Amino acid sequence: MAKNDDTFRKVIAHAKEYGYIFASSEIYDGLSAVYDYAQNGAELKKNLKDYWWRSMVYGNQDIVGIDASILMHPKTWKASGHVDAFNDPLIDNKDSKRRYRADVLIEEHVDKLDKKIEREVKKAQKRFGDAFDKEQFLETNERVLRYKKEGQDILKRMGESLAKEDLADVKALIEELEIVCPVSGSKNWTDVRQFNLMFSTKLGASADSAMDLYLRPETAQGIFVNFQNVQQTSRQHIPFGIAQIGKAFRNEIVARQFIFRMREFEQMEMQYFVKPGEELEWYEHWKQKRLEWHYSLGLGKENYRFQDHENLSHYANAATDIQFNYPFGFRELEGIHSRTDFDLKAHETASGRNLKYFDPFENKSYIPYVVETSIGLDRLVLAVLSNSYQEEELENGTTRVVMKLPAIVAPVKAAVLPLVRKDGLPELAKEIIEDLQWEYNVQYDDKESVGRRYRRQDAAGTPYCITVDHQTKEDGTVTIRDRDTMEQERVKISEISNRLRHTVSARDWIAQLKK
Ligand code: ATP
Repeated sequence: MAKNDDTFRKVIAHAKEYGYIFASSEIYDGLSAVYDYAQNGAELKKNLKDYWWRSMVYGNQDIVGIDASILMHPKTWKASGHVDAFNDPLIDNKDSKRRYRADVLIEEHVDKLDKKIEREVKKAQKRFGDAFDKEQFLETNERVLRYKKEGQDILKRMGESLAKEDLADVKALIEELEIVCPVSGSKNWTDVRQFNLMFSTKLGASADSAMDLYLRPETAQGIFVNFQNVQQTSRQHIPFGIAQIGKAFRNEIVARQFIFRMREFEQMEMQYFVKPGEELEWYEHWKQKRLEWHYSLGLGKENYRFQDHENLSHYANAATDIQFNYPFGFRELEGIHSRTDFDLKAHETASGRNLKYFDPFENKSYIPYVVETSIGLDRLVLAVLSNSYQEEELENGTTRVVMKLPAIVAPVKAAVLPLVRKDGLPELAKEIIEDLQWEYNVQYDDKESVGRRYRRQDAAGTPYCITVDHQTKEDGTVTIRDRDTMEQERVKISEISNRLRHTVSARDWIAQLKK
């Protein structure tokens, strides 16, 4: 399906209608950029977490998983640099009174240049037909090269100005590019200011003794402060990693785009501790490994790309984003950062504890360097949902809405449908459910005609429908209908579990994807 605003609106409406995502506190008109996962959304999210955890923790003997608290000692955030530097540059439009992130306004301007390149490609494709060589065109066409360079120069200048905290130059860039407010259409901008994204709260009951705390803005620090405990109790040697899934909170300046940018969200992170000097090799290693993991979901390789950072954070010596092609364009899904020894060193200084690792092979102590992979779980949910939503024209002239979710993460793996609500078919269907339900999330459905039930399950993203009919009573077989091909096959009841195995087993899923 085309990726555009219209598709995006449909995905959001569909996510509500089929019980995936609701606005938080909807009866009070919702809370800006906070969302709740409904019955199907919660399952999808749980399955994605499980797929990540299995491949990250069970799939790597040198990685262990933890679950640290959201609340941490406030000194953590001073040491990590978040109190002083976890800021976004904000700018207001004086006419519309709307607030924007200055860097996002500039990035959106560069997106328009990317769109112009896409249009040039399409035009040339039409002109040259089969003889068209896209790669060669992208490397040699003058107009494309000009747009590319223009975009790169803009991002480079923005990166440098942000790194130097030269906010006047960020504003100058917005003015030079003649960026207008999407609401008022005017160029009447305020100066650019920094805004700290952390939510603060208090620990303790009495006003005098209460301690100021922050809700963690990233899960990574929970790993760093536990580094030594985990290393010693897990008896891991460097290189090794610590993984974690958990909530993070950021008071985002502009929280648009549904669950792409939320104020409360979930991260799946892995910090890999390595010998100093080896970090850039490991950084390359994890870049490739993470990209392959994304490919393994089967959303299409063409939907991913790397975007290296021009503007390195205070803790990094290399950083890239894995971007996904959302309905609103390529945007960050996962960050991969070489975080140096910044965090552990800072915690060593702030806590006064020795956080060095003793390397028994080198017979010396040092602070390890860290390579981080950090993916936003909600952004992954959005990638899966927006890519899976499809409107299909069928041969008989009708259309159907289908969510072609990867079966391994689909909320309901199969719906079991008695053809009619009599003749003992419901009882047979319920027996099948009882047999499957400890391994698979299966759903009984006997409402309306079987054709309508198929459509509803297609739209909800259920990979299989198992229909119990009168023949089932005679020979113990059922039909299994495939959501994507709509083909039906008769199989023995005892065969069903084998047929569904790839919907819950990562190994079988990957094997099937390679076929
Ligand atoms: P952005 O530039 O989009 O604000 P970031 O570079 O600040 O993101 P990181 O600090 O690298 O993000 O966080 C790691 C991951 O956490 C991101 O790749 C993203 O998937 C996710 N993430 C960050 N902020 C949010 C948010 N407000 N809502 C949902 N997911 C988020």
